Amino acid sequence: MHEISIAGAIIDAVLDAARKNEAKKVEEVFIEIGELTALNPEQLKFIFETITAGTIAEGARYNIEVIKPLINCKKCEYNGPIEFFEKLHFFLPVIKCPKCGETEIDIIAGRDCCVKKIKIS
Ligand SMILES: [Zn+2]
Repeated sequence: MHEISIAGAIIDAVLDAARKNEAKKVEEVFIEIGELTALNPEQLKFIFETITAGTIAEGARYNIEVIKPLINCKKCEYNGPIEFFEKLHFFLPVIKCPKCGETEIDIIAGRDCCVKKIKIS
């Protein structure tokens, strides 16, 4: 359940930004999560709703976009998305280049999670 610590960090960032902008209320939060983080958007929303109770972010709407992973192959220079195989559970699968099968790759997207913007009032 790494959702809880990540959700906590996201809400801290949201509340911090809201305070700096003298917000009375956080209306909406736009979040991007990489597919490789294996975070579950529904579970995240549920945690957000729980931990924002009593804060200015209580009742905010969450727009969560899941970002497909992109890789850069060191061998054949393939640059693009990878296919998704199985559901991720407790460990990350080996990621290979879909073109040549190389595992020496750089992950250029899909591994992070960030707050894109927030709507306040
Ligand atoms: Zn390759």
